[in-house]
Amino acid sequence: TLSDRLADTFKNLRGKGRLSEADIDATAREIRIALLEADVALPVVKEFVASVKERARGEEVSGALNPAQQVVKIVHEELVAILGGETRRLRYAKTGPTVIMLAGLQGAGKTTLAGKLALWLKEQGKTPMLVACDLQRPNAVTQLQVNGERVGVPVFAPEPGNGVGDPVAVSRASIEEAKRKLHDVVIIDTAGRLGVDAELMKQAADIRDAVQPDEVLFVVDAMIGQDAVSTAQAFLDGVGYDGVVLTKLDGDARGGAALSIASITGKPVMFASAGEKATDFDLFHPDRMASRILDMGDMLTLIEQAEKTFDQEQALKAAQKLSGQGGEFTLDDFLQQMQQVRKLGSMSKIMGMLPGMGQFREQLENFDEREIDRIEAIIRSMTPAERDNPKMIDGSRRARIARGSGRQVSDVNQLVDRFFEARKMMMQMAKGGGMPGMPGMPG
Ligand code: GDP
Ligand code: MG
Repeated sequence: TLSDRLADTFKNLRGKGRLSEADIDATAREIRIALLEADVALPVVKEFVASVKERARGEEVSGALNPAQQVVKIVHEELVAILGGETRRLRYAKTGPTVIMLAGLQGAGKTTLAGKLALWLKEQGKTPMLVACDLQRPNAVTQLQVNGERVGVPVFAPEPGNGVGDPVAVSRASIEEAKRKLHDVVIIDTAGRLGVDAELMKQAADIRDAVQPDEVLFVVDAMIGQDAVSTAQAFLDGVGYDGVVLTKLDGDARGGAALSIASITGKPVMFASAGEKATDFDLFHPDRMASRILDMGDMLTLIEQAEKTFDQEQALKAAQKLSGQGGEFTLDDFLQQMQQVRKLGSMSKIMGMLPGMGQFREQLENFDEREIDRIEAIIRSMTPAERDNPKMIDGSRRARIARGSGRQVSDVNQLVDRFFEARKMMMQMAKGGGMPGMPGMPG
C-alpha cells in the first residue's frame, strides 16, 4: 500500500523531522503510482501530485508526526478537499415538489438508484414518486415498477397505448400528477446508451427543460476507471448536473473515478451506492473515499494516535511546569491548554467513555467553542511579558488589552481572575500527583 511504501521511503529519516527536496520527489513518485493504481485519470494525477508537492514544501515541520505520516496526512486532506469536504445535502424546492432527475450511461445504475433514493427519502419522512422516462428499452418501465413496489413508492409511467414513446411528455405529466397527489419529491429515471450519443443527450436535455429539476444527478459506475473523465464531461456539456452519484462501490474498484470526476467537473459526489439491495445506499463520505483511494486507513489511525500522544506530551510538560520543574505556568500555557480542551470538546463522546474522564463529560458537552476564541483574542492582545507574568497586568494594561481584543475591561478582568484560579487549582492537583485536567474550563 501507499502507506507502507511511504514508510519505506522515509525509513532512514525517522526523527529527521524535515522534508528535503529529495524526500518530496520520492514521495511524489509513490503517490503518483498509488493514484494510477486506483484508476485516477492521468491529468488529475499530475495536478494532484503537483499540489501535494507544493504543500509539502511549505509545510511546517510537525512535532507529532514523522515525515511519512506527515505526507500521508497532507495527501489525505487534499483528497478530502477535492472530493467535496463536507457532504453536500440535497436542495429541496421551496414550493411544490422537489424534482430530481437522474442521468448517466446505460448500466450505470440509475434505475436501481432511483429505488434506493426513493426509500432513503421515504425514511426521512418524504413522500416521493418515481417517474419512468426510460422508454428506450422494452422492460425498463417494468424494472422501475418492480423497484418502486419493493420500497413501497408509487411509479408514474405512461399508460400503454397512450403517449408511449415520448419521455418528455411523460416527465411533464408526472409533475402535474405529483402536485395532484401531493408528492413532495419526484425522481425521474431516464434512458441511457452504452456510449455517449447525441440523441440521448438531447432527450435528457429536453426532459430537463420540461421539468426544470432542482437537482440533476449524474449517476456513474465506480468501475468506469479511465473513461470517467470523458463521460462525466460529456454529460456536463450535454445535460449539465449538480451532483454525482457513484454506484457499484461494493465492487473492488478503488474509486479513482470519484477523484477524477470531482476534480475535473468540480461537482460534488453526493451519494454512494454499494450493492443491489435497496438499502445499499448512503450519503457519500469524502474522508472514507480518500482512505479507500489510497488504501491508507491503517496509516491514518496511526497518525491520529501519534497526534494524541503528542498532545499528551504537551499536557505533561504543562504538568511539570506546575510542579515547579519547568518554570512557571504562564498565560501562554493556559491558552495552549484551552486549545487542547477544544480538541477534547469535539471528542467529548469518546472521552466520556475513558476511565476518569466521565466527570468532565457534562462540561465538555456544554462547552462553548466561541469562548476559547474570545479568550484567545484577549491573550493575543497581551505582550509576551504580560503573558509570562500576569501579575503585572494593572488597570491601564487591562484597558489597552480590552481595546486591542475588542472586548470589555470586565472580560479581561474575568480572564485574569480565572487564570489565577486555574493555576492555583492545578498546582494543588499537581502536588496531589494527579494530571491537570481541564484548567479554567469556562463555566
Ligand atoms: P441503468 O441502466 O443506469 O438504469 O442501470 P441499472 O439500475 O439497470 O443497473 C445496471 C446493473 O447494475 C443491474 O444489474 C443492477 O442490479 C446493477 N447495479 C446497480 N447498482 C449496483 C450497485 O451499487 N452494486 C452492484 N453490485 N450492482 C449494481
Ligand atoms: Mg435504467
